[in-house]
Amino acid sequence: MSGAIVEQLVAIVGPANVLTTDLDRYEVDWTRRYTGRAACVVRPADTAEVATVVSWARRAGVALVPQGGNTGLVGGSVPRGGEVVVSLERLRHIGPVDALSRQVTVGAGVTIHDLHETARAAGLRYAVDFGARGSATVGGSVATNAGGINVVRYGMTRQQIVGVEAVLGTGDVVSHLQGLVKDNTGFDLASLLCGSEGTLGIVTAVRVRLVTEQPARVTALAGFDRVEAAVETMASLCRSLDTVDAAELMLDSGVDLVESAVGVSSPIPRAAAYLLVECSAHDDQSESLGAILGAAPGLSDVAIAVTPSQRDALWRLRDEHTPSINTLGPPLKFDVTVPIDRLAGFVSSIGRVVSDVAPKARTFVFGHAADGNMHVNVSGVVDRDVDVTDAVLRAVVAEGGSISAEHGIGVTKARWLHLNRSAAEIGAMRAIKTALDPDGIMNPGVLFAD
Ligand SMILES: Cc1cc2nc3c(=O)[nH]c(=O)nc-3n(C[C@H](O)[C@H](O)[C@H](O)COP(=O)(O)OP(=O)(O)OC[C@H]3O[C@@H](n4cnc5c(N)ncnc54)[C@H](O)[C@@H]3O)c2cc1C
Repeated sequence: MSGAIVEQLVAIVGPANVLTTDLDRYEVDWTRRYTGRAACVVRPADTAEVATVVSWARRAGVALVPQGGNTGLVGGSVPRGGEVVVSLERLRHIGPVDALSRQVTVGAGVTIHDLHETARAAGLRYAVDFGARGSATVGGSVATNAGGINVVRYGMTRQQIVGVEAVLGTGDVVSHLQGLVKDNTGFDLASLLCGSEGTLGIVTAVRVRLVTEQPARVTALAGFDRVEAAVETMASLCRSLDTVDAAELMLDSGVDLVESAVGVSSPIPRAAAYLLVECSAHDDQSESLGAILGAAPGLSDVAIAVTPSQRDALWRLRDEHTPSINTLGPPLKFDVTVPIDRLAGFVSSIGRVVSDVAPKARTFVFGHAADGNMHVNVSGVVDRDVDVTDAVLRAVVAEGGSISAEHGIGVTKARWLHLNRSAAEIGAMRAIKTALDPDGIMNPGVLFAD
């Protein structure tokens, strides 16, 4: 069967683009927690080849796993066993930046980093940014509705999309890339595909909006004697300044690990909680930012960075959290939102929720404070994955939160989807899935528990 699959795919994309050996980077996910054997990896060159592959898969009854940069953290980008991985890595075309509309159309395989560079060269900016920017692709970020550090100001990926081109699970191509900001002509398929995690079709191109680059940028790292003070200060900053691009929360346990794992240290004395805030505007925001932070309750110290290298040093402290935690072995990762008024309580109590189930586990919490979005990483869980996951996700829901803020449901959380979505909602989602992917070939096992 496998030989026949390879032969038929070679006829579509050519022998160089059907891979059968050295598949580790396609079969093992970024956390190294999820892995499975693929029948093979196919690398189509364009939308037409993707459509031919999907139509072939329907006829052959073969399941497909779309893959971008393979930085997804919920196990949805790697095979579970026997699927064909469809890598979008060759769809790297970048269209001309339209300076009038501030938009650009890019292929699904373009990295977030390359999109940033394209926007920058035109004096503009792509507003979605996160630590995996060097590998994560535009297609993957649409499929996961990625968030990141600038959501507080610009919104998630869904808010940046003006249109998509995609091959549905039926094999049909839908292409709506005109870039009209106002276009109420029926269902918004781009929005539907955004966050669908490869379960409805394969995104092949995306038209995104770009924002004006603000020339004056300032970043501050503030230490606090307690989490509540950091959260209160974050809320006060967002209320007072409409120039806040990012407001990230870190705890001493995470900063300590980053220092020991990768040798990046904090420029201010150690504190219970840290707020990393970035503002950008036409004029310098240092004074307004410094004034609010200076009067903040529980502030222990603050460092303000204005040059790019100073700013990079502060951001490394935050960006190195995920890689540093990985040095302890594959963690259990939770990416959750709680209402802002519950955030401090949640951050302070979630470690106990974990240790009640797995006493030897280490819990690290950090994330996008302004969105109420925390990354809860649990290391050292040997055989209680399901119990820890159940306890953490139920604690989130008890606080009125969401079990997936931005990473998606993937395979990791599929059996807990019902905690946030009613039977009617899941039924509607399944009906859409059946309509757009009638043979169930698109990323089976992701989003819906079978
Ligand atoms: C260090 C680090 C930091 C991160 N920080 C953030 C963060 O702050 N915010 C955030 O939201 N995420 C974050 N992530 C998670 C991840 O980077 C995002 O989910 C990203 O959008 C995934 O993009 P990708 O190209 O790697 O997709 P992949 O990992 O390849 O795939 C992710 C999912 O999308 C599907 N998919 C991929 N490409 C397509 C396509 N073209 N069409 C249809 N389906 C497709 C896959 O099947 C899979 O279900 C982080 C990850 C790492 C490793």
